[in-house]
Amino acid sequence: MSQSAIHIQNGSCPVYKKCGGCQLQNLSYEEQLRFKQNKVIKLLKPFGRVSPIIGMENPYRYRNKVQAAFFTDRSGKIHSGVYQSGTHRIVSVDDCQIEDALADRIIVAVRRLLPSFHLSTYDEDARRGFLRHVLVKRGFATNQVMLVLVTGTPVFPSKNHFVKAIRAQFPEITTIVQNINPFRTNLVLGEREIVLYGKGTIEDELCGCRFRISPKSFYQINPVQTEVLYGKAIEFAGLRGNETVLDTYCGIGTIGIIAAKHGAGQVFGVELNGDAVRDAIQNAKANGLKNIRFFQGDAGEFMQNVAQEGEHIDAVMMDPPRAGSSEQFLDALVKLSPTTVVYISCNPETLARDLHYLTAKSDYRVQAIQPVDMFPHTQHIETVVLLTSKAALANRF
Ligand code: SAH
Repeated sequence: MSQSAIHIQNGSCPVYKKCGGCQLQNLSYEEQLRFKQNKVIKLLKPFGRVSPIIGMENPYRYRNKVQAAFFTDRSGKIHSGVYQSGTHRIVSVDDCQIEDALADRIIVAVRRLLPSFHLSTYDEDARRGFLRHVLVKRGFATNQVMLVLVTGTPVFPSKNHFVKAIRAQFPEITTIVQNINPFRTNLVLGEREIVLYGKGTIEDELCGCRFRISPKSFYQINPVQTEVLYGKAIEFAGLRGNETVLDTYCGIGTIGIIAAKHGAGQVFGVELNGDAVRDAIQNAKANGLKNIRFFQGDAGEFMQNVAQEGEHIDAVMMDPPRAGSSEQFLDALVKLSPTTVVYISCNPETLARDLHYLTAKSDYRVQAIQPVDMFPHTQHIETVVLLTSKAALANRF
């Protein structure tokens, strides 16, 4: 671990208090890891031993997705930055130590270009103006860069000149998308998209597989640690070849596709977001896989249908959002009775809740608990858990 880098940068962020995004920045990286380890132990101790959290070699500049909100102050000056934690106030940020540096520079350049193109920022109260947010996604392995301009209206004056100007400054940008969000909402992205330049998607590589990513699809924000996390998940799944695997809450299909590459006989993925499902189908093709199918829908309903049909499933990988899984999902899981369950969680509180429910209702028992630090300096904790069931194993033979 590069100690010196940590000590020089630790606590040096000028907007640490105002922003509130890096809640643990007052701690050294070692202290942060200890804090997270203790939190997981506190929540998951009843289920078994917690392996030591896997930290990052260099816990800076890890975010491959950067998002900024835009506003104009009373003097007419345009600002870009992040919402102060838990509020709707924007804190100006030009350069953030956990974000990709190129992405930060592109956002500042967009801001500086606005006045010369007579483009305004969007005023949410007056529901007037143009630019609301800018989103940059970068494939660290491929170096492809997506710029998404989120606008309050579809009309984009001097659109072609603007695209030319930003591309001239950043030839690294491989695609530019206008996303239109005219609604009063906390969501950054709206439904409608217009591709202004390039394919409208970027690609990245993880664990030897290639993945297409759309503006609205979920993609893990720390690719270095994602490889560590997925590596553990695949190890826990213990695939020997020919197993039938479910990849639930699959996003763009990353885990299922990697499982298929690691010998799964067939994989079925389910995901709610239609754009992500389209990416997943495309990704299976691009990786030359024929034994994988993706479905759009609610994971709980999907599980219930699979359980009702009496399908034989060997392993279920589940990676729900922060709210955790649902009782419908967990009930169907027990009915389906796969030998192995791998639960990947970005919220140890809902993970503990779901594990309590599952272990009370069945003979699934936790065999391994592995936290991985995906979000250095923030309070967020990722954990992967292996569960097996003796009854499920006995039913196989
Ligand atoms: N496994 C993926 C995505 C994990 S994020 C990866 O590692 O990249 C969680 C995903 O669950 C998101 O893509 C989100 O769109 C999806 N999701 C949220 N609620 C869902 C539901 N009820 N049913 C299915 N998918 C859901």
